[in-house]
Amino acid sequence: MKFTTKSIHVGENPKDVEYGDAIYPIHLSTTFAKQSLDEVEEGYVYSRSGNPTRNSLEKKLATLENAKYGLAFSSGLAAETTVILSLLKQGEHIIAFDDLYGGTRRLFSKVLNHFGIEVSYVDFREIENIKKAIKSNTKMIWIETPTNPLLKLADIKEISILSKEKNLIVVVDNTFASPYFQNPLDLGADIVLHSITKYINGHSDVVGGAVMLNSDLLYEKIKFHQNSIGAILSPFNSWLVMRGIKTLSIRMERHAKNASIIAEYLENHPYVEKVYYPGLESHPQHMLAKKQMRGFGGMLSFEIKGDLESAKKFVEKLTIFSLAESLGGVESLIEIPSLMTHSAVSVEERKKTGIKDSLIRVSVGIEEVEDLIEDFEKGFKAVKE
Ligand SMILES: *Cc1c(COP(=O)(O)O)cnc(C)c1O
Repeated sequence: MKFTTKSIHVGENPKDVEYGDAIYPIHLSTTFAKQSLDEVEEGYVYSRSGNPTRNSLEKKLATLENAKYGLAFSSGLAAETTVILSLLKQGEHIIAFDDLYGGTRRLFSKVLNHFGIEVSYVDFREIENIKKAIKSNTKMIWIETPTNPLLKLADIKEISILSKEKNLIVVVDNTFASPYFQNPLDLGADIVLHSITKYINGHSDVVGGAVMLNSDLLYEKIKFHQNSIGAILSPFNSWLVMRGIKTLSIRMERHAKNASIIAEYLENHPYVEKVYYPGLESHPQHMLAKKQMRGFGGMLSFEIKGDLESAKKFVEKLTIFSLAESLGGVESLIEIPSLMTHSAVSVEERKKTGIKDSLIRVSVGIEEVEDLIEDFEKGFKAVKE
């Protein structure tokens, strides 16, 4: 079965449901009664360890990444925490891309450090940097590609080959690309992770996370910890995400089409200094993007000419784009990383990774692109005045 067909049908077989519901129902019950004492350990027992609606979503999630297993969590960060606590011990070491999602960086540097898990941040655009960072206690490589907000890429295949040689577990946060445009497991990664809050649900109404993988051994460990730690996705949210996933492919097509039109518009605009979008030929890793992604997604960033004041004037004038953090919903969002998503990153660090005060990040929605450009025209006019 192809992607869109799977996203609609997997986990929804009406034959599995008592009344033949065409869509899988929400099972809110926290516990499940047994006919006799012989059956107490069979099937569903308690909703944290297993829930029919969540399990249906987990089947659907797995197929999106061509994975054997899927697991759903109460947030992307809950998924990350569970993966790390399942697979690492005190004294072990992670190597992570230095341009990580801010919440992941906070988890690593302000929570995991209390448990003796050490993290090194390096620029993954050069594999040599990773080779140099490997130590005797290194256990995991943490990739995010493309990154946030500068859309840097890491070569998943090349890093996975290196990691196999060194016996390291490769985790890829695939939130930005979505499973429609990039499948890290097919490129050799061990674990894929998503904030399903973003593109997978796609309607800005659920916070959730997912892990997809093929290894029986790693699955058993993470599944055990999903229940033991308990950061599961609720039945209602599982059902909403199942609904969102059915349109993932057509949403992503439109996100990417709109984003590429806007990226070109911005690249040719006299008030724009620089555009970051992997689909542009001017992107330094455009060739890698073409190699490992099937499309370039709906996220882009640009530096407006001038300073922070110009960026502020621009975003405050827009009426269709909401001034908001987060991404991946059908509606367009805009933000200034230095004031919003990356304000917790020190000025020093921002300088080092290249996040300027005049940088604006855009989550391009699926509206009519003409309307989005007209909105931007209003913003640029305000800057000019
Ligand atoms: C949002 C996000 C997360 C965290 O997910 P939550 O659902 O907010 O906990 C992790 N990684 C990336 C790339 C994200 O965009």
